Amino acid sequence: MSTLERVADDVYAWIQPPGTWWINNAGAVGGADGVVLIDTCATRRRTECFLAAVAEATAARPIRLAVNTHLHGDHTYGNALLPESTVIVAHEQTRTGLLADFLLTATPPIWSPTPDWDITQIRPPTVTMRDNMVLHNGSRRIELHHPGYPAHTLGDVVAWLPAERVLFTGDLLFHQVTPLVFMGSVDGALRSLDWLAGFDAAVTVPGHGPLIPGAELSNVLAAHERYYRFIRDTAAQAGDRSPLDVARDVDLGEFATWPDPERLVRTCSPPSPTPSPGTAAHSTARPNRRGLGPVRGRPQPVTSVRREHHAGRAAAAADRFAGRQYLPVVQELQARRRANVRRDHDGRVQR
Ligand SMILES: [Zn+2]
Repeated sequence: MSTLERVADDVYAWIQPPGTWWINNAGAVGGADGVVLIDTCATRRRTECFLAAVAEATAARPIRLAVNTHLHGDHTYGNALLPESTVIVAHEQTRTGLLADFLLTATPPIWSPTPDWDITQIRPPTVTMRDNMVLHNGSRRIELHHPGYPAHTLGDVVAWLPAERVLFTGDLLFHQVTPLVFMGSVDGALRSLDWLAGFDAAVTVPGHGPLIPGAELSNVLAAHERYYRFIRDTAAQAGDRSPLDVARDVDLGEFATWPDPERLVRTCSPPSPTPSPGTAAHSTARPNRRGLGPVRGRPQPVTSVRREHHAGRAAAAADRFAGRQYLPVVQELQARRRANVRRDHDGRVQR
């Protein structure tokens, strides 16, 4: 059952077990000026449950702002249900991506049966950022930071409450759920782990899965690191085999118990990112909370995503593997579904 967990005074995390496909976490930050949401949910039913729980916890203070941590529908489709007066904030790549979204209206068969969205229109963010931005809710400070390079997606943003030391990571973290990277960069996702550690959060709210207390974060980051390295090694050794074949054969080892293991197919086959100039070139220069200079693990600027992607043999192999194989995998899955439907139909006709 989904629960609204209090993670600091007037700060809440909406945790939706089991955190699998389309079942995300979100958050709400109260303050003197109302409420700031961190993400919404995928369907009308889930979003309405979230909004009802937030209204109860915050005495129905108005939702002034909502942050989208990235473009994926599990975090953004519920935007459409927010009050018209709510301003939605996100990275500019998140807005661009959402404007091009087709998953809501033409959900591919890999997510079959199609989730019951009961939402018909995308509502994109109207305030966008590139590197960082600060939201003020009464005396409360909510910092939004982009890692400075593609990771889970091109436009990931974390929400950081420096006074409360609460970090909402969006899908830069999947806790006890198989991570997914198919619209960003596996190298970037790997690199973001040190960056996340640098916030030194007391509580971390992952995009999926249970809350992460401060003492557990290093273990969670280490597990992500092992998974991303496993993905890179798997892709590098795949040769000409399709991601689907690789996923069928691979020994998932310690990751076999995480839900959604089939995400390996998509994570092994990301399209090459094509961010606008500057997306990768900017690094987030953020002083640490003691004001003593850059945070530990702050990423170094990169001049281009492509250079990052081709920096190592494994990464280059993963990139090649991806670009060539992504579409055939989707087509194969679609063709299989069509064949199954046809078989069912033929069966009925013969009967
Ligand atoms: Zn998600």
